[in-house]
Amino acid sequence: MPMQHGRAAQLAATTRQLYDLGWMRGTSGNVSVVSQQDPRQLLVSASGIAKHATQPEHAVVTDSAGRALDGQAHAPSAEAPVHAAIVDAVGAAAVVHVHAMSSVLSAARWPAGVRLSGLEQMKGLGCSAEGEEYVVPVVRNSQDMADLSRRIRSALDPTMPVILVADHGMYVWGSSLEDAANRTESADWLLQYRLMHDLVVHEQDSR
Ligand SMILES: [Zn+2]
Repeated sequence: MPMQHGRAAQLAATTRQLYDLGWMRGTSGNVSVVSQQDPRQLLVSASGIAKHATQPEHAVVTDSAGRALDGQAHAPSAEAPVHAAIVDAVGAAAVVHVHAMSSVLSAARWPAGVRLSGLEQMKGLGCSAEGEEYVVPVVRNSQDMADLSRRIRSALDPTMPVILVADHGMYVWGSSLEDAANRTESADWLLQYRLMHDLVVHEQDSR
């Protein structure tokens, strides 16, 4: 299907872009995009493919729960059910999951959530850059994807399209694959800022 192939090519290009930014080391991380509604289907990164070598044929079609449809050449990422849960919970069109160092260090530093306010880059997450304070939620990691999905669902904040998984990475979603990837770049900038600010001005910023 041409449209499906177009999305698969976009999925591969986005994956290589995120790899080039250093956030998809080895086979880590995965990306998904809603490819059909009623019934909902997702295109999800295949499991076990080195991210720098990702091609359009490495996109796997899953159902609305992240289970591969019959006849797929590859297995989907083990984290596909988490992508499906986020899409279901917030109505996102695409989800990016990366093991960016900034996300893992931020979750370790602020296990109750990462506070953000007053930064221009927050507009990149669809947030206000003035006045309002936002919190990036943090959940504990789990090897059980149903358990991890439940934790993420219960911690989701509709005003903040980013959630951190402690000792693991982050999930970021958007209205398109491009939007989710752009938001991932903004999220990494903001988390790096908080970490570096904490090092440089820790006396004034002990929250
Ligand atoms: Zn992961």
